[in-house]
Amino acid sequence: QAPAEPVARVTPMMEQYLEIKAANPGLLLFYRMGDFYELFFDDAEIASRALGIMLTKRGKHQGADIPMCGVPVERSDDYLHRLIAQGFRVAVCEQMEDPAAARARGNKSVVRRDVVRLVTPGTLTEDTLLDARTNNYLLAIARMRGSSGADRLGLAWIDISTSEFIVTECAVSELAATLARINPNEIIVTDALYGDTDVGPTLREWPAVTPLTRDVFDSSTAGRRLCDYFAVATMDGLSAMSRLEATAAAAAVTYIDRTQVGKRPPLSPPAREATGTTMAIDPATRANLELTRTLGGERRGSLLDAIDCTVTSAGSRLLAQRLAAPLTDAGAIARRLDAIAAFVADSGLRDDLRSTLNAAPDLSRALARLSVGRGGPRDLASLRDAILAADQVLAHLARMDEPTQEIAASMAALRRPSRELAREFERALAEQLPLLKRDGGFVREGYEPALDESRNLRDASRLVVASMQARYADDAGVKGLKIRHNNVLGYFVEVTAQHGDKLMSPPLNATFIHRQTLAGQVRFTTSELGEIEAKIANAGDRALGLELEIFEKLCAIAVAASEDLRAAALAFAVLDVATALAKRAVDDNYVRPDVDGSLSFAIEGGRHPVVEQALKRDGQPFIANACDLSPAPQQPSGQIWLLTGPNMAGKSTFLRQNALIALLAQAGSFVPASRARIGIVDRLFSRVGAADDLARGRSTFMVEMVETAVILNQASERSLVILDEIGRGTATFDGLSIAWAAIEHLHEANRCRALFATHYHELTALSAKLPRLFNATVRVKEWQGNVVFLHEVLPGSADRSYGIQVAKLAGLPPSVIARAKSVLAKLEAQDRGQTARALADDLPLFAVPSRAAAEPAPPSESEKLMEAVRALHPDEMSPREALEALYALKAKL
Ligand code: ADP
Repeated sequence: QAPAEPVARVTPMMEQYLEIKAANPGLLLFYRMGDFYELFFDDAEIASRALGIMLTKRGKHQGADIPMCGVPVERSDDYLHRLIAQGFRVAVCEQMEDPAAARARGNKSVVRRDVVRLVTPGTLTEDTLLDARTNNYLLAIARMRGSSGADRLGLAWIDISTSEFIVTECAVSELAATLARINPNEIIVTDALYGDTDVGPTLREWPAVTPLTRDVFDSSTAGRRLCDYFAVATMDGLSAMSRLEATAAAAAVTYIDRTQVGKRPPLSPPAREATGTTMAIDPATRANLELTRTLGGERRGSLLDAIDCTVTSAGSRLLAQRLAAPLTDAGAIARRLDAIAAFVADSGLRDDLRSTLNAAPDLSRALARLSVGRGGPRDLASLRDAILAADQVLAHLARMDEPTQEIAASMAALRRPSRELAREFERALAEQLPLLKRDGGFVREGYEPALDESRNLRDASRLVVASMQARYADDAGVKGLKIRHNNVLGYFVEVTAQHGDKLMSPPLNATFIHRQTLAGQVRFTTSELGEIEAKIANAGDRALGLELEIFEKLCAIAVAASEDLRAAALAFAVLDVATALAKRAVDDNYVRPDVDGSLSFAIEGGRHPVVEQALKRDGQPFIANACDLSPAPQQPSGQIWLLTGPNMAGKSTFLRQNALIALLAQAGSFVPASRARIGIVDRLFSRVGAADDLARGRSTFMVEMVETAVILNQASERSLVILDEIGRGTATFDGLSIAWAAIEHLHEANRCRALFATHYHELTALSAKLPRLFNATVRVKEWQGNVVFLHEVLPGSADRSYGIQVAKLAGLPPSVIARAKSVLAKLEAQDRGQTARALADDLPLFAVPSRAAAEPAPPSESEKLMEAVRALHPDEMSPREALEALYALKAKL
């Protein structure tokens, strides 16, 4: 039997703390005590380290000091923000009653406390905790074991600060790309999935993954949990989801329910994202092309940053979403482009809309805060102002003769919210609004008679206090007598020390009751002051109570109208994006691309949107370049351009600009070119300038080969492939051979449109053999022994690499340059190009491994042996036959 533990004396408060802590495993507990949230034990140590705040002690537990640290409630948002950013999750535990109520129950009673909310990275609503320009998604992943062994994943993602709710399915192999596109702030999965060998590694790339128990992902209760959340009898009317999607969706709402502890933020019904409606972009490509963040993690310098001139945060979020998920449906793309074209054509309309939108508030986030009970008076005002802005926007748009489809849909959405709501809020809300509802004073005078009465009473009493000061000064014969107020004494009379005795002696001591003697002053109360004080407090409390009631009423009106308001919020965002892209198009000379179902890719006067802007800031021109990968006459598939040219000539820039133009076009934006025709690209692949992925123990070369493998295995005829300098990370002949074989594979097997930049000039020999391979080069000029970059892309191939000239530009010592020149002269004498040209002539062309045509390779020795073993049927053999078989096998070795 275990020895009896010494009975630990635990205070009632500690007992309560430990109980709440045990109910919230894995979270830091913010335990409210007066004006602070306190953390104890390990939590205190973790938080003090993470926040750089002081660690102290409070009392003892089981004989040891209890470590403690605290954050002031007033500044807690800031601390929460820092903890969440570091990947922690926090349970916020509040006092649920007045401490006086606890004291009244007896001196051993503790204040009742409860966890009111779990703060996790994916479930934030506070403005202070969110980046206004990006969505904050919580994403749930459910898995279904496929019968054929191919598992499917169901994904559901929610931004509770804007109510968006989307579901989709994908294969395990697509998970990394899908996550990179959605970019969730928190992912929830089952413990099993987190530990899984297929999916686990992808998940562990993400900072905030929260593994949960299986019941949250139970598909048999998913439907019921969703119905419960949306308060409907069946989800059929709201959304058509697969069972797998519904399982993920239910997990997400269950988690939200838990973190919000009973408050249910309203969510849009789950919208199903059909698979294959967006351009697939794998994580490496997404990162390399710096779509929404640069490789360094900054927004500045990304494609999004270069083209974003939206004027609202919701517009900025929508633009980021669109860039992250370009479409593959030409009709949907055209609808977006039509709207931009309309605003390109009418600059007056565009400017008017933009200035109205600029002044409009962030409707969706205000609404989300109100619906989880975390909104303030200014959020109510936001709704009012948004509806007024909707009317202004409609008035502007009424000037259009024929609104495009997208604009017409936005107009319909803007008409939806009830105008009566705005009028009611206008009548109810004061001109100047406090941040917090508990400060009061936000209801307009004249809105509610009972409120006006309480306020008058309160203010009149304050006037009475003012008049009493004069009377008391007279009565006491003390000119300097003052009536003051503080939180400890309430209203009190104050005189300087020299007059104190006078008030404390008869007859004045009958009126003035001594309270406090300070160094220079003496303080008194009177029963009259006490009465009036109670009156003021009562009237004040009553006024605040009435205001809070009005607040709740207005809040309920808003929540009831939330669907219409959300539709209007989306319309604002759509119009903001369309006008912003129109402005970008006009300011930077972008054109409308032709996007269709062909396999064309014809760009004239193409430019790199980010580099162009950077050069413009320095007053430098960007050299526009054409690119045509369209199938040549009589050719069924698109072309591959093999681009050569020295370092620094502009090869990467050219490659990336064409990828970005395709992406912008399909996201529904005008493009930096003078003309563009693009046949829908289903997948965009890139392999450009990888950095070492040392965190995962991979060298540059390994990263490069893994990315190249993905491309060669997956690119289809509809894909666009960008390959920059593959093979650079290894020995020359290795690298050249890999690049060679990769081009043949792209040409023969993938048959995709591709741009391939290389410094192996030998590869240009391949064009003689591959009909759809086209050689292009970036032109440079040699001038007085120096190289001048012209950045012009022309047909042909580079004759030299100018590496030494570039090295000279970089400042290598002249002695090194001179030596390099003489080494090069020796090497060039042994002409490597000759070998390559011979290779192109001699080597049979890469053979596409196709099942029907492929000759089976002759079986190896061990395969022969295995075949022989397989052919044995021990059950049907006599012992003698078995022995013979054994000898026969042995003989084969
Ligand atoms: P490479 O890949 O050939 O080494 P980059 O594409 O990195 O060269 O380009 C090198 C630099 O040249 C870029 O940083 C950019 O400033 C400039 N550059 C590239 N293309 C152009 C262009 N079309 N017009 C003007 N400057 C360009």
